[in-house]
Amino acid sequence: MIAAIRGTQDILPGAVERWQFVEATACRVFEQYGYAEIRTPIIEREELFAKGTGETTDIVQKEMYAFTDKDGERITLRPEATPSLVRAFVEHALEQGMAVPKVYTIGPMFRRERPQKGRYRQFHQLDVEVFGVEDPSVDGEVIDVAWTLIRELGITGVELAVNSVGCPDCRPAFSAALVAALGGDVARLCGDCQRRAVTNPLRIFDCKVPADQPVIDALPHTVDYLCDACRAHFDAVLRYLDLFGIPCTVSHRLVRGLDYYTRTTFEVLAGGIGAQSAVLGGGRYDGLVRHLGGPDRVGIGFAAGIERLVLALPDALALPEKRPDVFVAALGDPARESALALLRDLRRAGLNAQIEYEGRSLKSQMKRADRLKAPLVFILGDDEIARGQVTVRRMAASAQESIPRETAVAFVKANR
Ligand code: AMP
Repeated sequence: MIAAIRGTQDILPGAVERWQFVEATACRVFEQYGYAEIRTPIIEREELFAKGTGETTDIVQKEMYAFTDKDGERITLRPEATPSLVRAFVEHALEQGMAVPKVYTIGPMFRRERPQKGRYRQFHQLDVEVFGVEDPSVDGEVIDVAWTLIRELGITGVELAVNSVGCPDCRPAFSAALVAALGGDVARLCGDCQRRAVTNPLRIFDCKVPADQPVIDALPHTVDYLCDACRAHFDAVLRYLDLFGIPCTVSHRLVRGLDYYTRTTFEVLAGGIGAQSAVLGGGRYDGLVRHLGGPDRVGIGFAAGIERLVLALPDALALPEKRPDVFVAALGDPARESALALLRDLRRAGLNAQIEYEGRSLKSQMKRADRLKAPLVFILGDDEIARGQVTVRRMAASAQESIPRETAVAFVKANR
């Protein structure tokens, strides 16, 4: 037996319904807010993420499934959606066809992380992006989309954390302040942090090593180093969240593990789903489109992990039960063709009609109908066929009656 790869999962009937609920709810909410779906390839050039996600991030340095293709090209399974959506935005000049390019996508992402509850190597994201709008009202809208999604899914006990990481104008002063505050403590931090202190000090906030945390907690806060424009932008975002009635806390450590963020960053944390409690995260990436070779357009978006949303769903979710409208049973071989013809008519009329395929006894056919939770069973034997009738059994009442064959479809529609 060949088993599934570590960190991947099969989503089976019984569990998939909750996924379908999350995806359908997300599509409904995103479309309601004017976002249009776009689907991009799962494989991309490695360079897109090296440049887009950032050379110094854990994702690019340690986690990408990258390989050399037979023609020598470096290819990777996408670890996240944003760079792909930026690529598509630029490649297809989407801003020419869309008044405000507001897009979303849904699909699998791949990162070679250490698997645990809520963390997988193939996982699935709902991703939302807006291009070209600098006004903080759009930051408010994007966070409102995320908040509405959580509410429509019935997920409670969540917290929204927001922060501003500034822009290329104020970032250097903050990075310098970080390095100055660290001083001689750098030598006491883990090897990754020592490297980060040189290459990209902001990434020190990504560190999960317990011994490093007291030092990191005492570091300066990005919000104290914002330039006037970033400060005004962040204040406006907080005002809009207040206006939309979305409670939040400012979290100084929220710098996000990707290099492209500028200004607003945010994350939604859910209780009761284990150590991996971030159900969604996002922010503004004002330099990314140009950095990837596109026009100078700002952007903002978020990604939510479907696995974690599914974990956070209420246990008692009122999902519609899946069951057939009717089961068709045939009494003896000669009746099977008539039963199949009846099945055909029921299905052509849009009804969910099921049958037993192997010509077993009526008793086992009734058992099958029972297991499928069919409320109605049509029984067809030589007798019924001769009289142009169908015997109907209502399973709940164990009562039987006879109806004309030509009224069978209408009967099911009236008794569903
Ligand atoms: P990120 O793209 O890292 O900002 O992550 C956005 C969201 O994707 C997180 O809040 C998680 O819900 C989800 N996510 C990220 N990595 C994983 C993973 N390895 N397994 C499951 N979900 C993930």
